[in-house]
Amino acid sequence: MDVYGIIGNPVEHSLSPPMHEAAFRERGIDAKYVTFEADVDRIEEAFHGAEALGVDGLTVTLPFKHDAFEFVEPEESVRRVGAVNTIDFTESGPVGYNTDMTGTLRAFEHHDVALDGADAVVVGAGGAARALAFGFEEAGADVAIANRTESKAHDLADEVPGATGHGLDELPELMAEVDVVANATSVGLESDDSVAPADAWHSDLVAFDAVYTPLETTFLGDAKAAGAQTIDGAWMLLFQGVDAFEIWTGEEAPVDAMNEALRSHL
Ligand code: NAP
Repeated sequence: MDVYGIIGNPVEHSLSPPMHEAAFRERGIDAKYVTFEADVDRIEEAFHGAEALGVDGLTVTLPFKHDAFEFVEPEESVRRVGAVNTIDFTESGPVGYNTDMTGTLRAFEHHDVALDGADAVVVGAGGAARALAFGFEEAGADVAIANRTESKAHDLADEVPGATGHGLDELPELMAEVDVVANATSVGLESDDSVAPADAWHSDLVAFDAVYTPLETTFLGDAKAAGAQTIDGAWMLLFQGVDAFEIWTGEEAPVDAMNEALRSHL
């Protein structure tokens, strides 16, 4: 039996186990997907231990995505992001991927939203924002980054080719001009706050929210009410898992079964 899992702290409420178990079942793969709550002070040992035990692959979640980057041989596109959320233990060593980034791009494709040539604003400058900003840029979008702490928006913009950094006060102006607005802050997580003013939305925008609890955040609700297209955060979660499954198994992921399993646990 193959063994996969998610490593983080905390991990007990992770939705990855039901999603990956459903995928293995659907494809008839004899594998188990388990949760590993690692000691934050012993993460390096934990990664080496997983490798020594013959674990086949890991999803890496907070707060270990940067530690994972240090542990693996990062796959090409991950080098700039500096964070790894998927490890494939191969015969030649652990290889690291960032499927938060590639999975979000697949979520946009799934919704027929073209990023090539689009103007996109990423709100936030933390880990999720890094994945989105580098991903959007790689997909051909012009990226603006707006963050509460403006200096962090400028720091991230300096790393992403062609990107510009802004304070949150500039968000309404940016929203009047761009095609895509992506919330990569934790605003709206289990609350009805939104990082974007309700009256800044219009029907030419596509709204994406990385937050998925609740599934319809105020950010997305306001966007929808103004006639904008919306993509919820569960699509990012789904497609990061879809990409991980395909990296680990080399098989096409059963997207519908994974989506059903995920949404039935939300
Ligand atoms: P993070 O690194 O801690 O970054 C948090 C960001 O939120 C920072 O830019 C911070 O701004 C901003 N922020 C926090 N409180 C704010 C407030 N009250 N007003 C304005 N901005 C505020 O977190 P992260 O890892 O990037 O995660 C961000 C969100 O994405 C979380 O809700 C997480 O659950 C979600 N996420 C979802 C997926 C998925 O698969 N759907 C994957 C990864 C993350 P400052 O710099 O000013 O502090």
